[in-house]
Amino acid sequence: MPGEHSRLLLLAQGTTGRPQGKLEQALEASRVAVSVDPDMPAAMLTAQVLLTSLRRGPGGLILERDGLSSASVDQLVAATAAIDPGRAVGVTRRTDGACAIRIHVGTGDARAIRIVPEGYGAHIAGQSTAVIRPARPGNAIGAVYTAALGAAEAFKRTVGVVPGRRVLHRHLRFCPVTLTSDLSVAPDLPDGMNLDLALLGVGAAGTGIVLLLDAINATGRLLAADRERFGPENRGTYSLGGTAETLSAPWKTDIAKSALRQFDVISFNGPVEQLPAAVDSGDIPWFPTVLTALDSADARRDAQRLWPDRLIDAATGDTMLGIYDHEYGLGPCLICFFPPERSGPSAARKLADLTGLSAERAMRGDDPLTEEDLAGLTEEQQQLLRPHLGKPVCGLAQAIGLTRIDAAGFRPSIPFVSLQAACLSVARLIGSRLGIKSAANLVQYDGLYGPHTATADWMDPRPGCYCQTRAATIKLVRQKRTQSRA
Ligand SMILES: [Zn+2]
Repeated sequence: MPGEHSRLLLLAQGTTGRPQGKLEQALEASRVAVSVDPDMPAAMLTAQVLLTSLRRGPGGLILERDGLSSASVDQLVAATAAIDPGRAVGVTRRTDGACAIRIHVGTGDARAIRIVPEGYGAHIAGQSTAVIRPARPGNAIGAVYTAALGAAEAFKRTVGVVPGRRVLHRHLRFCPVTLTSDLSVAPDLPDGMNLDLALLGVGAAGTGIVLLLDAINATGRLLAADRERFGPENRGTYSLGGTAETLSAPWKTDIAKSALRQFDVISFNGPVEQLPAAVDSGDIPWFPTVLTALDSADARRDAQRLWPDRLIDAATGDTMLGIYDHEYGLGPCLICFFPPERSGPSAARKLADLTGLSAERAMRGDDPLTEEDLAGLTEEQQQLLRPHLGKPVCGLAQAIGLTRIDAAGFRPSIPFVSLQAACLSVARLIGSRLGIKSAANLVQYDGLYGPHTATADWMDPRPGCYCQTRAATIKLVRQKRTQSRA
């Protein structure tokens, strides 16, 4: 199996307790069949994002073409072929044959898990008797979010996630804008919104954000910042980029540029820490709205030093996903959320205290947990750690509920987790434009349990944080940057 799936395999191993060799065989042998009701609003976008998300993982993928035009079938096949031409979706007529998992993009077909966008949100119905009657059509955010939730349903079943680690949805309804099960209250998505924003980090969640900005038909200006080029290992976890990109290795910012043809995209192929200076020297404009999708606490703190009006941070760690929302002058900044002392040695110390692992072992965060690591621990400690065998140690802290999504626990994730984080981020951005106030600046849930288990908290600034002790300086910096913008 290509190395690009190693991340997914590790994760699957951690949530199933099955040995990696068996799991690999089971995944490769799995078959997911997708059917589509072309008359459903946003059906094609939902189907395409579902199929491409699934195609980034292992296993067989079948499209039941009944009802679809040849052009639609061609479009869906081409989208999966662009990711991996050797593994494009297979096209059949409706089959009742042995297929482990069926997903139907539409309200009918009780044989299948049905997935239906409504407004910005989703219906996910695994129970055949569930009745789905959308009161309004799904929009592009709803379509992408529905697809990401649908891909999660397939994953839980193909890898056989143990019951204690997942919820199979009988009939889930969830709106990522209002963070409720009410799909009808958020105002309609305006077409062709004009946006002026920065996207820092064009990785797993960042490519999801780009996908969404394109899907909602937005226009405007976007600063894309990422210091890396696309690599073969990114194909299995990102929402954009396929075979062509693994060969040409473009800057990740160029992937944003090619996808966002309606935007004036400014690329910055350097580290986030250089951005504030680049803004102050006039090389790059200052953006009042910043979306971050970064992989370290350091980078998050660096991004905060731009001191925008609004900073929405998309975060993932193993199967957890969420957003941190900073509004200037209100609530915590990203340095409050990710204080320096929570990453590095002290986080390892905390993890060591809780688990019995040595601090030295806890510091080697990228190394997967092994049986040898458990030797010498108490029975209780072993019980706590055993479900996490094979997973990188740095993800343990949050996996066992020691911390919130912790900087030290960030791992590049599987597409449906990153894409759901991207949906929360863009939904929050659009919600703020539409004047929807949220009572939460920290929202997170486990992608295997689902958004109805989300915790939505209002966090206060951390006393002693730079944003509190240097408020006057920050105000001056912001004044200067706002003026330079004019
Ligand atoms: Zn702060």
